[in-house]
Amino acid sequence: MNDFWNTEDALSLEFSGEMIDPEDARFDDARGVWNAMIDRSPALIAQCKNVSDVQTSVKLAVARDLPISIRGGGHNVAGHAVCDGGVMIDLSLMRGVTVDASARLAKVQGGALWRDVDAATQVHGLATTGGLISDTGVAGLTLSGGIGWLRAQHGLSIDNLVGADLVTAKGTLIHTSVDENPELLWALQGGGGNFGVVVQFEFALHPIGPEVMFAAPIYLVEDGPEPIRAWRNFLAKHGDRVGSLCEFSTAGGEDFPEEHWGKRVFTLACVYNGDPAEGETLFQPLRELGEMSADFSGRMNYCDVQQLFDTLMPAGDFRCYWKARYLTELTDEMIDVAMANAMAAPSDNSLSSLWNFGGATAEVPADATAFGDRSMGWMYSLDGVWTDPDDDEANIAWSRDGWSNCERFGHHGRAYLNFAGHGEDNAALTRTSFGPNYKRLVAIKTKYDPQNRFRFNQNIAPEA
Ligand SMILES: Cc1cc2nc3c(=O)[nH]c(=O)nc-3n(C[C@H](O)[C@H](O)[C@H](O)COP(=O)(O)OP(=O)(O)OC[C@H]3O[C@@H](n4cnc5c(N)ncnc54)[C@H](O)[C@@H]3O)c2cc1C
Repeated sequence: MNDFWNTEDALSLEFSGEMIDPEDARFDDARGVWNAMIDRSPALIAQCKNVSDVQTSVKLAVARDLPISIRGGGHNVAGHAVCDGGVMIDLSLMRGVTVDASARLAKVQGGALWRDVDAATQVHGLATTGGLISDTGVAGLTLSGGIGWLRAQHGLSIDNLVGADLVTAKGTLIHTSVDENPELLWALQGGGGNFGVVVQFEFALHPIGPEVMFAAPIYLVEDGPEPIRAWRNFLAKHGDRVGSLCEFSTAGGEDFPEEHWGKRVFTLACVYNGDPAEGETLFQPLRELGEMSADFSGRMNYCDVQQLFDTLMPAGDFRCYWKARYLTELTDEMIDVAMANAMAAPSDNSLSSLWNFGGATAEVPADATAFGDRSMGWMYSLDGVWTDPDDDEANIAWSRDGWSNCERFGHHGRAYLNFAGHGEDNAALTRTSFGPNYKRLVAIKTKYDPQNRFRFNQNIAPEA
């Protein structure tokens, strides 16, 4: 360990986790995040074991006048978890989850992954809205919204966030709930990692599974848009009960007929949160919309559904650039644009998706959470995913062009801030996406982080 830490003797004595500096053999592994494009070097990585370690790390950064990045699950595509020259507070050793089944409440440590939460809650037949990939961090996903299969009946992850413990820029531990520091809870419901380090989340839980019906009929893009139109019309009737997405990808592997390998396909993926037999009947028409290329539909355990997409996205293997925008509605023309974009993807690993909203997500008033307006009908996301650095330019251009060529279908220019490219459009996008809530967020940021110590995020700059 270099002088960086040792000169702060009083602080280092209080630290029980792992301190990793650039001379440490573990440094390269510890600074790596999910997107292989991110290559940053913090002055120190503080792998915290407990709340007191987090407080010590924050105080150290402040004593050294350094900025702080926070690593939850490390999945953020812009790589906000890791910074150059600052202190990276790494919560990967803090993944505990405790469940109070009778109160239908989970307490989740700040470094937990969704698979930790699903495993602990499903033991009791409970769950809350989480992401579609099980090794995404609870923290980053939740703090900017959280869009998962259960959103139709239970809203976004933030709609289930009933409390949190936060270490502020002063190193102080604050509890927040509707009764205690409620304005801070409101800010955490969509305002990102701007206000401090969340060391514990408290989520409301709901009875789910263990078995649910999952539908995943897969059609060839070249066979035309009719199945997507029919799926859209189906969701117009059932979208308050069904969380769904239409995901464009490339066929390959033994589950597809060999003559389809390399062709673009789309999956009409839906989860029915209720009696699986009822779900099977409900989803059957989606499996009869033409000749399927493959069909992954079936009754399965909720935990398995939560891990189904994991193999598409292994951590650290891929270079990534993702963009998304909200759509007012899903018109036939927008479907055509999405199909053309899918055909134009330079990489077979890239995905693009249409996500439905409505149901419980839409019921939350715009000023009830920092996230803001819920009147968007849909979201369109483009996940550029590739391996060769020489292909960076073409793949980034694909995501950005696809994002731009559907601007006319956008919903007030708003975007999902968890899929915000590499941060190029941050200031404008953040302001627009929060809408009228932005001003209130600036006031809360100014109160809790006036020096903008926590700035590696969709940043809300404090007042000067
Ligand atoms: C493969 C993949 C699948 C995804 N699927 C979904 C999905 O289904 N639904 C969805 O909504 N999103 C999804 N996302 C997007 C995801 O929500 C964001 O990438 C999110 O930022 C990841 O959170 P994390 O904790 O893993 O990220 P990190 O990179 O660790 O952190 C992201 C941001 O949150 C801040 N942060 C992290 N931990 C804390 C903390 N404890 N306290 C305060 N701030 C913190 C960081 O400073 C950073 O700004 C997916 C991303 C990937 C890569």
